[in-house]
Amino acid sequence: MGTSKANRKAQRYAFATRAIRAGHSRTNEGEQAEPIFTTSSFVFRDAAQAAARFAYEEAGNVYSRFTNPTVRTFEQRLASLEGGESCVATASGMAAILSMCLGLLRAGDHVLTSRSIFGSTRLLFVNIMSRFGIEFDFVPLDDLDAWRDGIRNNTRLMFLETPANPLTEVGDIAALAELAHHRDILLAVDNCFCTPALQLPLSLGADLVIHSATKYLDGQGRCVGGAVVGNKELVGEAVFGVLRSGGPSMSPFNAWVFLKGLETLDLRMRAISDNATQLARWLSEQSAVTRVFYPGLATHPQYALAKAQQHAPGGIVSFEVGGGREAAWRLIDATELLSITANLGDLKSTITHPATTTHSRWKPEQREAVGITESLIRISVGLEDISDIQDDLHLDRLT
Ligand SMILES: *Cc1c(COP(=O)(O)O)cnc(C)c1O
Repeated sequence: MGTSKANRKAQRYAFATRAIRAGHSRTNEGEQAEPIFTTSSFVFRDAAQAAARFAYEEAGNVYSRFTNPTVRTFEQRLASLEGGESCVATASGMAAILSMCLGLLRAGDHVLTSRSIFGSTRLLFVNIMSRFGIEFDFVPLDDLDAWRDGIRNNTRLMFLETPANPLTEVGDIAALAELAHHRDILLAVDNCFCTPALQLPLSLGADLVIHSATKYLDGQGRCVGGAVVGNKELVGEAVFGVLRSGGPSMSPFNAWVFLKGLETLDLRMRAISDNATQLARWLSEQSAVTRVFYPGLATHPQYALAKAQQHAPGGIVSFEVGGGREAAWRLIDATELLSITANLGDLKSTITHPATTTHSRWKPEQREAVGITESLIRISVGLEDISDIQDDLHLDRLT
């Protein structure tokens, strides 16, 4: 688990500096780069020390399911970037959401969640967590009245993604935090699309930040991982307890890859946002494109909110073409450079058809309710030259 005095001291450095330096305490070997501790367990000086470590009377490593120095470096660095007290790294983004639920909810609790959420998150809530006596209700992300009206006496958690996948709707984190705290409800924000480089949910009042490190934190499509960030009580104790006893832990190697990803996060997110803004503007001018979804366009319904809440609009651009699934698939299949894959957050641009991939396990009426049509295409804009990305989208062949 990532909390330390050194880290709190490091908070005086700027974001880009912390992204490179936070969390690493150099060992006696004097290494410059962060070492990977590929060891499952740690050796104690004597039996008394073993007992003290197990009892938490003495800080230190025990076993890599819950204490590994490389994983801890990643946790401390991410906690520092999000401005959180504690961070727990997990095996995947879904494991982060699962660990948060297991750590903070109990049977009889009610969760109010935005209906525009990652496909697997909805399925985790509806198909799995609901079997343990937790109830879920879904509300439109941007409808504050619906959130207010949806609160019940047993509501324990409000959960959202912003910008949401794939239509980039934006939720008002500060307003939702106020609503939640008025009723003693926790607010969790999946910060996958923005990362702390572009948005700091904790500073806007959220209690918990969720990450799929698989996406922009890695940034090069190499490893699967996740994290929960928040205060010591919620994350450092409750969620950490799930990790210690339940074991959805991050491997040290993956933690090291994510550490390297964090070092360039700030640069990448700004460059990706610039590329995505150019692509969104260009798409808006194409006659074959009927609609573009991107928080950086003045036509986005929450353009002003996105501008106030985020440092930049991010890298996800979705758009609709006339002609339904047939036209959308034709456009996707005609690409030669873009990768046809549902992953996002990679330096390599990716293209996907949400209705038949990321959101295919939803019922058609659920997709319709949030506006995921058969004509919709999502691009996770990477760092190739923007003219090559544009040339790869043969929109002329659709008209
Ligand atoms: C990918 C993703 C997740 C799940 O993360 P995994 O690492 O794939 O388990 C959760 N939320 C959002 C917004 C995502 O894009």
